[in-house]
Amino acid sequence: MGFTEKNGLRYFQFESFQNLPVFHAILTRRGGVSQAPFDSLNTGGTVGDDPQAVLTNHERIYDAFGFDFGSRFDVWQVHGDRIICTKLPRGRHEPHPKADGILTDKPDITLFMRFADCVPILLVDPVQHAIGIVHAGWQGTYQRIAQRAVEKMAACFGSRPEMLFAGIGPSICADCYEVGDEVLDAFVSHIGDDALRYFDDRDSRLYLDLWLANRDILEGAGVTQIETAGLCTACHLEDWYSHRAEHGKTGRFAVMMSIEDN
Ligand SMILES: [Zn+2]
Repeated sequence: MGFTEKNGLRYFQFESFQNLPVFHAILTRRGGVSQAPFDSLNTGGTVGDDPQAVLTNHERIYDAFGFDFGSRFDVWQVHGDRIICTKLPRGRHEPHPKADGILTDKPDITLFMRFADCVPILLVDPVQHAIGIVHAGWQGTYQRIAQRAVEKMAACFGSRPEMLFAGIGPSICADCYEVGDEVLDAFVSHIGDDALRYFDDRDSRLYLDLWLANRDILEGAGVTQIETAGLCTACHLEDWYSHRAEHGKTGRFAVMMSIEDN
């Protein structure tokens, strides 16, 4: 699958999801109406962009794929480890619940999250017809949010980890992601010395491999079917927003999923 274009929007899809009963799209930053530095398909409402432009971008996305905007369930992403199983969309005027993982088995819901370097992890259970999106930055990763999402899918939908398909989406690569000692300390204190292999020391600088860490955490949770997009947000600013490479002055790209009817 890789990259596709529709109605002027360019988006990425996982090859391994192709025959699953699911719609998913990881939207690039192309094809929207936001002005620099948010150009152009910014979906982040709290980054300083014009709210009308952000709304227009959302509508473009929903129109392009033929989903009702009222089906959207999204959250206030706070770098924690809370996961929500939802059976309803978020009401247009309801506040965003705080969470970093969202799950559903309802085909009339579109799950929606926003990213700019943090790792999007998409989960599909083709047996129980359930899906999830996880937001894993360094904090979510050391808190093993991907594992918690797998466990919560088991609790909410009866999902068996070995039946799940996981996709690790576009996010900052190990060559671009220099981190401080506090990050290493957090990983070692939560995960143990095993976490040392996610870090690389080059010229006295410390780098973190979020793709490897999250793959490892998913495997530890019993997931065997894992595809990594291998696309770096900071290396490819023509497609993605990067908080790191753009020094915090940037937008958020969208990840959207919906399970098909049984
Ligand atoms: Zn990179």
